[in-house]
Amino acid sequence: MTLAPITGLVHSVESCGTVDGPGIRFVVFLSGCSLRCRYCHNPDTSYCRRGTTRSAADLLEEISRYATFVKNAGGGVTISGGDPLFQPDFARALLRGCKEMGLHTCLDTSGHLGCNADDAMLADTDLVLLDIKAWEPDTYRGLTSQPLQPTLDFAARLAAMGKPIWLRYVLVPGVNDAPEAIAPLADYAASLGNVERVDVLPLHHMGRFKWAELGLEYTLADTEPPTTEQTAAAKEIFRARGLMTY
Ligand code: SF4
Repeated sequence: MTLAPITGLVHSVESCGTVDGPGIRFVVFLSGCSLRCRYCHNPDTSYCRRGTTRSAADLLEEISRYATFVKNAGGGVTISGGDPLFQPDFARALLRGCKEMGLHTCLDTSGHLGCNADDAMLADTDLVLLDIKAWEPDTYRGLTSQPLQPTLDFAARLAAMGKPIWLRYVLVPGVNDAPEAIAPLADYAASLGNVERVDVLPLHHMGRFKWAELGLEYTLADTEPPTTEQTAAAKEIFRARGLMTY
């Protein structure tokens, strides 16, 4: 019996990524996401599932051409999206193939579908880039349309496994930037014991034109990005708990 090839919907790839994990990375952006973030800069990926169907074998062959380069650059491969856990079988096959090439692997996820990441997948994942969009459940739901708890359950599972996390927090003025909104998240992150760094990412509007193209309302149009000082103040809250921030 011949097994059908594992295929997935791929939005795009980037061969020299520098912001999605350590070193220079081959980044695979998969289509589909369970959240509906108001600031999503790839609504064509997350809301509309646009992309190209590719087999895992074909994509791994492409990655193999960059394997030596990214290894020598202290990098590896990041499976991003959308949310890669929206297509867990495909993500699992890619991570397995990358480990067979001896590559460092990152999984970039909101954790909302953390239940789709089985132990085999996580064994092939060296680092999780975990987006926690807000600490307060109503704020989280208001930003993403989904509940926070699955992400916290996933974070706790990663902590129990000792799997390293780089936590990401998009700072949205007037929504999740108040010190009292950030401090409990910082306390929680510090308590986990596996958060290696925290990236506080200022809101930007670079994906706004895609919302217009898709005929979707961009509800943060009137929200100014945070100032350098606001972003620095948010980072300081994490740093005060002994967490490294960028
Ligand atoms: S989790 Fe990421 S890809 Fe999904 S909607 Fe939010 S910002 Fe977009």
